[in-house]
Amino acid sequence: MDLKEAKFVMSNTDWRKCPKPVLPEYAFIGRSNVGKSSLINMLCQRKSLAKVSSTPGKTQLINHFLINDNWYLADLPGYGYAKVSKVKRTKFHNFTLDYLRNRENLMCTFVLVDSRIKPQTIDLEFFEFCGTKKIPFVIVFTKFDKLKKTEKEKNIALYQEKLLESWNALPPMFFTSAVKGTGRDEILDFIAETNTL
Ligand code: GDP
Repeated sequence: MDLKEAKFVMSNTDWRKCPKPVLPEYAFIGRSNVGKSSLINMLCQRKSLAKVSSTPGKTQLINHFLINDNWYLADLPGYGYAKVSKVKRTKFHNFTLDYLRNRENLMCTFVLVDSRIKPQTIDLEFFEFCGTKKIPFVIVFTKFDKLKKTEKEKNIALYQEKLLESWNALPPMFFTSAVKGTGRDEILDFIAETNTL
């Protein structure tokens, strides 16, 4: 797929107020700092599309972008612990989980994980949530340029091992670098193949 145009549409916290669910939608989620904004900008070939929506106060919102006037990209709030506070914050916003449970045009959720880091409980919990709620997801390994080949293989194998403890099959996986553009064609082709409502 050729990604020609990406337009910011709106930000909100309520799935009912998201754009009318008349186009296929793909959501992007992951722990804070996983490289989500960089990946979205890389996919859209824009320097600061996602950063526009990540200005203070907007990072914790569901941000919608209209792509090629043909599908929606939903940039979901990062999860994990808030760095600004020593107090443990809610790991996931309820409104994000409500969005995932209820958004009828959601075709697939791209769950980003940092390829340099071993499987984290919070990511495994999120996969579990998607599984029990029947939310289709794929895994996107980020920052692939930062790893040596052996390190990449080790971390991927660890993920596969963990996933196979609770699943019979593995979800599709994408290996990306926002710096080098790795994985862009694969992700856009996957979207092109699946975006029929
Ligand atoms: P977000 O909080 O998930 O939106 O993460 P950002 O996109 O802001 O990225 C967090 C940090 O990781 C930034 O310093 C980025 O420059 C860096 N980063 C993101 N993606 C990549 C990548 O593919 N390769 C490298 N080397 N650094 C990356």
